[in-house]
Amino acid sequence: MVIVMTPNATNENVQAVVARVTEAGGAASVSRGDARTIIGLVGDLDHFHGLNLLALPGVERAVRISTPFKLVSREHHSQMSTVMVGATRVPIGPDTFTLIAGPCAVETAEQTLAAAHMALAAGATLLRGGAFKPRSSPYAFQGLGESGLKILADVRTETGLPIVTEVIDAADVDLVASYADMLQVGTRNAQNFSLLQAVGEAGKPVMLKRGMSSTIEEWLMAAEYIAHRGNLEVVLCERGIRTFERSTRNTLDISAVPVAHDLSHLPVVVDPSHSGGRRDLVLPLSKAAIAVGADGIIVDIHPNPSTALCDGPQALVEEDLVELAAAIAAFTPLLNRGPALPTEVLAVTN
Ligand code: PEP
Ligand code: MN
Repeated sequence: MVIVMTPNATNENVQAVVARVTEAGGAASVSRGDARTIIGLVGDLDHFHGLNLLALPGVERAVRISTPFKLVSREHHSQMSTVMVGATRVPIGPDTFTLIAGPCAVETAEQTLAAAHMALAAGATLLRGGAFKPRSSPYAFQGLGESGLKILADVRTETGLPIVTEVIDAADVDLVASYADMLQVGTRNAQNFSLLQAVGEAGKPVMLKRGMSSTIEEWLMAAEYIAHRGNLEVVLCERGIRTFERSTRNTLDISAVPVAHDLSHLPVVVDPSHSGGRRDLVLPLSKAAIAVGADGIIVDIHPNPSTALCDGPQALVEEDLVELAAAIAAFTPLLNRGPALPTEVLAVTN
């Protein structure tokens, strides 16, 4: 961090900053220019938190040099990470492209199983589906709760697909984690810090959606909350941000993928369904995601979208999914990525 003093700061003002920093265990190096003095602070940034340097006389501003996130940053961990999901260890990381597909919401056992078979046929290796739905309206379908989790677990047994499902309340984390292979934190909870801390202690990988109005730094700080509780198995998910544009549900911030990859070692996936909010945009947005180096996509599908209780207009039907799978197969090898197959085969016991 660099402290920039005001043009009229006195020598005493400068010494007061130096004294406060050194008392806190840091080091300060003073550089006097013609117009201003700047003070470079060296040491663990934690030392400087709470020092309130900006309140000292003669201090104009503090300029951060290193990123505020550590555990998730590439400054601290230059190698890109791969997150393994489920008992069969499905990878999400730099060498593969992971297709995650499933219904927005678990509605019935039949619907979820039919969607899982669609997903499997298209080469998806993880199944998504919400049992706890964070709806904008209290009158909308809120999800089946624990019975939805049981359906997901049954479908996993039937198909072998590990499951990704959302948790919306810190009080439910243990329950959801007892069924899920990967916990999803949705856009509406992206800065629910007690939830982030709880999923950080749950012992399961986490898919962290970007808050619809979060900057990339805020998104990575949310990931840092999870990592800070000991869980580095975090996958970032760009799902569109809120802008003035109304023709799409959200605006897919495609540049967030390479920017997040530059700043963080965590895998980054794209949700082309919740960003566009339109079935016809899922294929082009998925191609864009592949082109910018996303590590996978998470896509809404439904055996019969016209009856869907949640987000039917963006759900792919079987033929759309076949087309999407063909695009993934055609384009991902150009980016040196292979399919994200399970890396472990479970022993069959019967
Ligand atoms: C979802 O994936 O089901 C969902 C609600 O997404 P988001 O949090 O991105 O809106
Ligand atoms: Mn949805």
